[in-house]
Amino acid sequence: MSKKYELNKIETEGGEYCYRKTNNINKLEFLVQKTHKRLKNIRHNYIHQITTSLAKTKPEYVVMENLNTCGMLKNRKLSKAIQEATFHEFKRQMEYKCAWNGIKFIVADRFYPSSKTCIRCGDIKDKLSLSERTFICDECGYEIDRDLNSSINLKNYGKGVA
Ligand SMILES: [Zn+2]
Repeated sequence: MSKKYELNKIETEGGEYCYRKTNNINKLEFLVQKTHKRLKNIRHNYIHQITTSLAKTKPEYVVMENLNTCGMLKNRKLSKAIQEATFHEFKRQMEYKCAWNGIKFIVADRFYPSSKTCIRCGDIKDKLSLSERTFICDECGYEIDRDLNSSINLKNYGKGVA
């Protein structure tokens, strides 16, 4: 599309460029918008499937963490803005589906260190880089999958709140 704009630019008397919208450009813009809408629908439907299946398991409560843009979002195929929107949509759906099914919906405190805390001894790591997929406790040496460790911490967090 930018190439088309470039091809159709007109130089004005003042030496500046003005960009003309041709029918072709209009058509392309429409196609781009249509594709974006289609992708958004696909994402929403996918999230609906997941949140519905989670609510169907009828847990006592669901704990979600707040969005941590620099941390958990590392999918390079999706832009940051789209990932944030997707996360918020996931949270929104999860929250109302919990409400429908009488499930408590808990949002963990923004600073709750779910990934850095050892589920076995409670020690909190100073640093845990995203590339470390296995949590290894500095204190007691416990080894566990990083996401599983953080999920169990969130489950316990919910227990204290619920
Ligand atoms: Zn430990």
